[in-house]
Amino acid sequence: MPHFSYQNGVLHAERVALTDIAKQFGSPTYVYSKAALVEHFSAYANACKKNGRNADTALVCYSVKSNSNLAVLHLLSKLGSGFDIVSGGELLRVIAAGGNPRKVIFSGVGKNEEEMRLALSHDILCFNVESVAELHRLNQVAKELGKRAPVSLRVNPNVDAKTHPYISTGLKENKFGIAYEDALLTYRTAAGMSNIKVVGIDCHIGSQLLDDAPLLQALDKVIELVDQLAEEGIVLHHLDIGGGIGITYDQERPVAIGAYLDRLFARVDQWRQRRHNGSPIQVMFEPGRSIAGNAGILLTKVEYLKHGETKNFAVVDAAMNDLMRPAMYEAWHAVQPVLQRTSAVQTYDVVGPVCESGDWLARGRALAIEQGDLLAIMSAGAYGMSMASNYNTRGRAAEVLVDGDRVHLVRKREVPENLFALESIVD
Ligand SMILES: *Cc1c(COP(=O)(O)O)cnc(C)c1O
Repeated sequence: MPHFSYQNGVLHAERVALTDIAKQFGSPTYVYSKAALVEHFSAYANACKKNGRNADTALVCYSVKSNSNLAVLHLLSKLGSGFDIVSGGELLRVIAAGGNPRKVIFSGVGKNEEEMRLALSHDILCFNVESVAELHRLNQVAKELGKRAPVSLRVNPNVDAKTHPYISTGLKENKFGIAYEDALLTYRTAAGMSNIKVVGIDCHIGSQLLDDAPLLQALDKVIELVDQLAEEGIVLHHLDIGGGIGITYDQERPVAIGAYLDRLFARVDQWRQRRHNGSPIQVMFEPGRSIAGNAGILLTKVEYLKHGETKNFAVVDAAMNDLMRPAMYEAWHAVQPVLQRTSAVQTYDVVGPVCESGDWLARGRALAIEQGDLLAIMSAGAYGMSMASNYNTRGRAAEVLVDGDRVHLVRKREVPENLFALESIVD
């Protein structure tokens, strides 16, 4: 994470000392680097450009659920990003952030009627439909509004993404998508519906993929379907390969975005030459983690050091409600002390104050720390704040965006009154 580095023994975000951020905004606080967000988005955008693509032939739709702060969405929107959403709430976020609903694609297995109406009224780019039942509902809702809903079917290419079972989505046993074997039939059904307009095909096989081989395998299977559909006169305008590229949390070496996109576009180009006289098809991506993950850290303070018989604990002011990934997936996040001390290291479990044994952020880490020190939980920009809860009536953390030597508060810390404001007492 080059935008988070030690300068004179103090960990900085770009040119701002994390000690200064803690002084000004308290802790726990999510700290994002604008330069990192720009760099990660640009890796996609530049690879598209390098491969001869423009806005009509490639679109990067940032996965809003990975980090949905308005400032992040606004920044990416200014860079030309589209958005992949999974709820009506996320659509309203995109719009509030100044994003263009015409660049929004709507994924998810459980879209309700209200969400469909909202998305149709804003003329979003595409619904990624995940079942036949959803197709029928969407057709009906569109009819009531006098619209035709643009649709892509999320097919399940049944390739093994070789990642954590909780974040693998492209296998037969997953709840996501339409089975590959059922895809042709479902497309025929969709094409026969009065208020559905078939425009594309999509898949998303999993998350934190380090290798692009499963994605290219999925691409080949999707290409096969596009050709079979073309033979039946169902011509698709776009092909969406989903997100899923991983990041370095520890020692992982994920494929470079540029190399992956080069390989993917080369395959698409060969195919279009071979089968479609070189006519283009728009290619879409839905990256989340690879844009936001290593653009953010969670800044937390050591409240207590507990030295036990078998274990030492660093009890910090961040908890599983702030960063759920360790408790939920046993995810590993690097922990860096903000101040580099020369004192002897000891091994600690870094845990939060929440009343659950599952409330840990890191285990068995060698740290030279004292009570009151600050720690940075690294690689927390994606699926960090967006998964945070209020368990134990803990207000969610503040969020700041660092830009060079400036710090912007982009979400205030929640206070307890916020948390029970919607509740009422019954006598
Ligand atoms: C979560 C999700 C993404 C983003 O995945 P990353 O691994 O963060 O890139 C993309 N598409 C869909 C449908 C998703 O559910």
